[in-house]
Amino acid sequence: MREKQSYAGLDRFRIFAAFLVVAIHTSPFMSYSKTADFFFTKVLGRIAVPFFFMVTGQFVLAEYMDPQKRSAGRITGYLKKIALLYVIAVLIYMPPGIYAGHYQNTGLTDWLRMVLFDGTFYHLWYFPACILGVSVVCGMGRFLKMPQMFVAAGALYLAGLCGDSYYGLVREVPAAASLYEMLFSVFSYTRNGIFLAPLFLLLGALAGRRTKRMENIRLLRVLLALSFLAMTEEAFVLRHFKLQRHDSMYAALPVVMYFLYEALLLSDRRKPERRRGGRGKSAFLRTAATWIYILHPLMIIAVRGVAKKAGLEALFVENSLLHYLAVLAGSCIVSFMIALLLQGRKDEPFEKGRAWIELDQDALSHNVAALRAMLPETCRLMPAVKADAYGHGAKLVAEQLRRLGVDAFCVACAQEGVALRRQGISGEILILGYTHPKQFGLLRRYRLTQTVVDHHYAMQLNRYGRNIHVHIGVDTGMHRLGERSENVEQIASVCRMKHLVVDGMFTHLCVSDSDRRQEQEYTRSQAKAFYQLSDQLREMGLLPPGIHMQASYGILNYPDLAGDYARVGIALYGVLSTQEDTHKWQDTLRPVLSLKARVATVRTLYQGESAGYGLQFTAKQDTQIATIAIGYADGLPRALSGGAGSVLIRGQRAPIIGRICMDQTLVDVSGIDRVRAGDTAVLIGRSGEQELSVCEMAVAAGTITNEILSRMGARLERVVV
Ligand SMILES: *Cc1c(COP(=O)(O)O)cnc(C)c1O
Repeated sequence: MREKQSYAGLDRFRIFAAFLVVAIHTSPFMSYSKTADFFFTKVLGRIAVPFFFMVTGQFVLAEYMDPQKRSAGRITGYLKKIALLYVIAVLIYMPPGIYAGHYQNTGLTDWLRMVLFDGTFYHLWYFPACILGVSVVCGMGRFLKMPQMFVAAGALYLAGLCGDSYYGLVREVPAAASLYEMLFSVFSYTRNGIFLAPLFLLLGALAGRRTKRMENIRLLRVLLALSFLAMTEEAFVLRHFKLQRHDSMYAALPVVMYFLYEALLLSDRRKPERRRGGRGKSAFLRTAATWIYILHPLMIIAVRGVAKKAGLEALFVENSLLHYLAVLAGSCIVSFMIALLLQGRKDEPFEKGRAWIELDQDALSHNVAALRAMLPETCRLMPAVKADAYGHGAKLVAEQLRRLGVDAFCVACAQEGVALRRQGISGEILILGYTHPKQFGLLRRYRLTQTVVDHHYAMQLNRYGRNIHVHIGVDTGMHRLGERSENVEQIASVCRMKHLVVDGMFTHLCVSDSDRRQEQEYTRSQAKAFYQLSDQLREMGLLPPGIHMQASYGILNYPDLAGDYARVGIALYGVLSTQEDTHKWQDTLRPVLSLKARVATVRTLYQGESAGYGLQFTAKQDTQIATIAIGYADGLPRALSGGAGSVLIRGQRAPIIGRICMDQTLVDVSGIDRVRAGDTAVLIGRSGEQELSVCEMAVAAGTITNEILSRMGARLERVVV
């Protein structure tokens, strides 16, 4: 599945950062106040380039830093793209450079310096710095671990700082002064790909990888404001004592950037998924920002030229603010036009091309609220997002749930937990099933909580020798996982194990869906055994903090059994296992998932002709049939073949005919007007007045909704609507 996280805030900030770069080169407030200009261009403006480095770090380097995902292809692809932009920019600026006499008396070393460090025109240093910085970081990545890389990049930054805004101090030490003079003969400034870029690239990469994130936006804003204040202070002090050789780097800058970036990411996470056009707009803004960056010096030349011709120099050249605005307006107009042109050529990602799942985010929030209302305030939802969130798409669902304040999840296995962490999901993640001892390292690395499946397993976990967070599984009668509830001593000994951090204890009810007397009694006996065990542990002073028993049916049928968590699965997705139960709760819960696919082709099957594998369907009269682009590999049960199931097209039912194939399904559309290739067929969900529920499909396929949903295929696209 493609990445669907929205980075709209980040993309808007790119434009702002590009505006700052233009400001650095035009000094908008110079006509009014030198101090204001200093603040605007030499303090605030200095966040722009590090920001661009961080974005590169997040989107290009983060994956590369992960040894399991490392692929040089993406990096080379990116470097090629930047190199191409650099060449284009050099070609644009060569003529004005020659005209201005920049390249007179330039030797080979001067050329190398220009190409590698300074840029062939004053603002173009960013491109080589990006290429050099990415190469430096990748090179380090071969030998060093992340923390060591940070130390190395930090040291480089410090060295750069000493040759930049702190050079006035460093110059006082003769040895340092001569060393730096030597360096300055290789490159004019230390704000380049070696000293400045690596630290910010790494900070960006870290932002892309980190699983533990700051969630308090207020605190972040305060920290951002404080660090920015500190940087402003630092800049003005350095300026006062005239210590700056150049003013690109401050000691407080990395701190400011860290908080700024976290704040931007957090606000993107807190906003609901962008609906239509979100990503297209983002791509547009990204391209536009790059071109503003490339073209604005040309605009400076143009504005000056035009102003001179028109005799408006007093207005558009001498007034710094109008000059800035004119340059900015010109750059924006041209860059937006270029972005528009390029956008037309790029293929927009389109998820609804073949077969896809639509997730109704309003239904999901509705269900979360409904379930919370059934539980006491002290009970936290711990949604089951195992099996790709019952087929809905674990990443999308978990992201929505995080926004709704859910901070605990359960999954079936370690891989599922790891995947969620890599997708940036924070909060508790409990693994309900078995994890092999060779994978215990993952539990720690990804901060996953493991279920103790029995006493023997607890000893294995403990032998790992480093602390692991666990919930103890207790078997009260399902006889699947968990230590038997009557083995109190064994369970107590698990609580005492040195390397186990026991955060919780739970049992699972196996007949809580039934309203038959015998099964109700069985459920009550399970609860009783669990409470008895809890009491005994409490007396020993060993009771774990988080106690839980309920899954979906437990919440609905036994509200009095609420604990500290409720491991809700199927109900969260708005249905229950059977059709009757779903009907019973249909006023409380709303189905989240719809399943849709495209009509690939429509044709006539003449009377007597047969169709599909095994020619299982024969037309009794001339029949219009449509081929739908979905099959059993997508999770459509093959048991729906031969008329057992149907789909909705243009608000009408079309029965499935013949055998369902791996990737295609035939339906009878006789009697439905104007069915055409490209039409949408609904397999689960609404079409016009009609609705097909997952329950109906489950009944037709002889199974429960849970199975239908959790077997939704990996190649289905998932879209939030
Ligand atoms: C899957 C699972 C759940 C969620 O069950 P639902 O019936 O879908 O709510 C809860 N607890 C355990 C142990 C599970 O395996």
